[in-house]
Amino acid sequence: MNIILLGPPGAGKGTQAKRLVEKYHIPQVSTGDMLRAALKEGTPLGLEAKKFMDAGGLVPDSVVIGLVKERIQRPDAAVGYMLDGFPRTVAQARELDNILNGMGQKIDHVVSVEVPASELLGRLTGRRTCRSCGAGFHVMFDPPRKDGVCDKCGGELYQRSDDNEATVSSRLETYEAQTKPLIDYYGNQSKLRRIDGVGKMDDILQRIIKVLG
Ligand code: AMP
Repeated sequence: MNIILLGPPGAGKGTQAKRLVEKYHIPQVSTGDMLRAALKEGTPLGLEAKKFMDAGGLVPDSVVIGLVKERIQRPDAAVGYMLDGFPRTVAQARELDNILNGMGQKIDHVVSVEVPASELLGRLTGRRTCRSCGAGFHVMFDPPRKDGVCDKCGGELYQRSDDNEATVSSRLETYEAQTKPLIDYYGNQSKLRRIDGVGKMDDILQRIIKVLG
């Protein structure tokens, strides 16, 4: 099963993807995670991407398409994959369709996780992540027992550099202008499954599982 998780920054795509991966045993392919990993390693690609990420804009299509093309051809993706944060533009979606055609594959479902715009800023600026195990927290909605310390492994919690208020505002504008048109793109392909992204994490997970069948 090849799935796309679509939605604005802060909709909870990454959180749900991690849980869905455990259920369906398919890899999560997150372009954001791949770019952050490249940056951490200090590769030229990572350093170039940082400029766009810090500004709340999008990394050029050719860069992310190259990353995804390579990733979905690896052996562990033969059983399917969950794309998280890709595609983010109509040009990326078109190119993905071309690549999949060439591989004899297709996207089965596009899950649109819908959250009112008014909720997103607070969700994003309060996010904290564990440096060691990657667990996610939120200072208001899901606080760790001890400030700055991961409940699961005791690791240090940090705030993503692009989760500050100024960058978040740009990311939300970028979403509206460049990514939201994908709702129509996949609606026209009859692949869009809309789900309400507000509520308890477990309830949202169940909604997604229900539409995936
Ligand atoms: P994310 O972790 O998905 O929120 O992505 C963080 C940042 O990485 C975004 O704000 C973009 O700058 C960049 N990025 C991630 N995925 C893409 C993509 N598919 N196309 C362009 N830029 C991306």
